[in-house]
Amino acid sequence: MITSQVAVVGGGIAGAWLSYRLAQRGVDTVLVVGPEPPVSREWAACVLNRQLVEDPVRALEDSSGTQDPALRPLIERHLPRELAELRSLVELMPFEGVLIPRHQVPMPRLGAGDEVVTTVLRHYAGRMVEARVTDLVVRDGVCHGVRTDRGSIAANHVVLASGGFSGLFADGVANSSGALLGTCLRHGATLANLELFQRFALGDRTRRRPLYPFDLDGARLLRDGSPIELRGTDLALFREYWTSNLGVPHTAQLKDVTVELGPVRGFSYGGLAGGIENLHATGEARYDIAADALAGLPWLVFLATGGMLAERLEPLGKPSPIPEEPVAFVDFPDLRARLAACFDHNSTSETMTAFLRWARENRGSDVLLLAEACVASALARTESRGFFFRADHPAEDPGLAGRTTRVQYRDGDIEVQL
Ligand SMILES: Cc1cc2nc3c(=O)[nH]c(=O)nc-3n(C[C@H](O)[C@H](O)[C@H](O)COP(=O)(O)OP(=O)(O)OC[C@H]3O[C@@H](n4cnc5c(N)ncnc54)[C@H](O)[C@@H]3O)c2cc1C
Repeated sequence: MITSQVAVVGGGIAGAWLSYRLAQRGVDTVLVVGPEPPVSREWAACVLNRQLVEDPVRALEDSSGTQDPALRPLIERHLPRELAELRSLVELMPFEGVLIPRHQVPMPRLGAGDEVVTTVLRHYAGRMVEARVTDLVVRDGVCHGVRTDRGSIAANHVVLASGGFSGLFADGVANSSGALLGTCLRHGATLANLELFQRFALGDRTRRRPLYPFDLDGARLLRDGSPIELRGTDLALFREYWTSNLGVPHTAQLKDVTVELGPVRGFSYGGLAGGIENLHATGEARYDIAADALAGLPWLVFLATGGMLAERLEPLGKPSPIPEEPVAFVDFPDLRARLAACFDHNSTSETMTAFLRWARENRGSDVLLLAEACVASALARTESRGFFFRADHPAEDPGLAGRTTRVQYRDGDIEVQL
């Protein structure tokens, strides 16, 4: 049993940055690092879009109207100071409109995020434990800590920095299925925008990864065996090409391998939106960003959120001890296939309703609860918008502009408000 003023769950950039800033302020902090590698360390290039500092209104453009209105003021207030702090730890260099970590190869590099997170963690003066968080301890709507597979952590504040949940889907880049968000739901939290994802329009669906210009150099893209050219922004390509071509087989003949071509889910726009006292979120686990293009935005947003939370999380006294209580896990090996059967070109009210019926009959795990909440949110949004596409409602509904889905689990039922 560990006792701490703040427990931060997840050792990617969001968790590392917040923990570093809390410890700097003298707040007793424990960072819980899970067994799977964070997206921040495995993939991210740590490209930082300078426009977010200079002109946040333009950088955060979101034609879907689903972004949290509190995001821009948060960036304006906290980003300049947090970026200056990052620069005191990591040397950054300009590259076109962005900043990247200084390196002898002066180009964005996938995986460069690992060096940055390592540097931040080297300067973090608090405690770190390696464990998987298996449950939250919530009594009367207040979070008192977490349970892990190695014991409990009693804390005055718990912050989820557990990343996104695109790994729940067969075409998702991340490893994580976001089960912890399902846990939040089970304890009464509100999650928002679970149906919305950023998509890399050119993706390798065989290996679940985006295709970058260097992958596509000399590649042949084929639609049903015939060569095609695909150019444009991720959003434009998704809206103008993929929504009417998702059911058609596409392949990419790369230098050394042929893979299934199609959009892949990267960043999950949905996440925790509140509902449990002393439970907070930063990074991709938090609901707030939805933007037409995300290039270089997430890390800067997470720095700003970390700065805001570090300022806000004041100690509340000594946390109370937590009684031990094991949690059972139930695995659903065919969950991704079932989800694929009710999203995108397969998305009709019938396929989604059939999934919801199956999910209700099989309740008993947090990951399934999250999947159920995603499908219920998608069912409630009777339109297509941004990167979200429904085959039975292919057009945008102007009446839903700026509307956010909010989902809760109450008395054994998933409830969605839009
Ligand atoms: C290919 C690619 C390139 C990208 N490049 C950039 C870029 O250059 N610039 C940019 O700004 N953004 C970039 N992004 C986006 C950005 O990197 C991610 O959104 C970001 O890494 C998410 O950070 P995070 O700290 O919220 O989560 P993560 O980095 O995913 O870390 C979360 C950690 O929490 C752990 N966790 C989850 N559940 C539990 C649990 N129950 N118990 C304990 N631990 C748990 C996870 O396993 C994971 O290790 C990129 C994304 C991709 C996919």
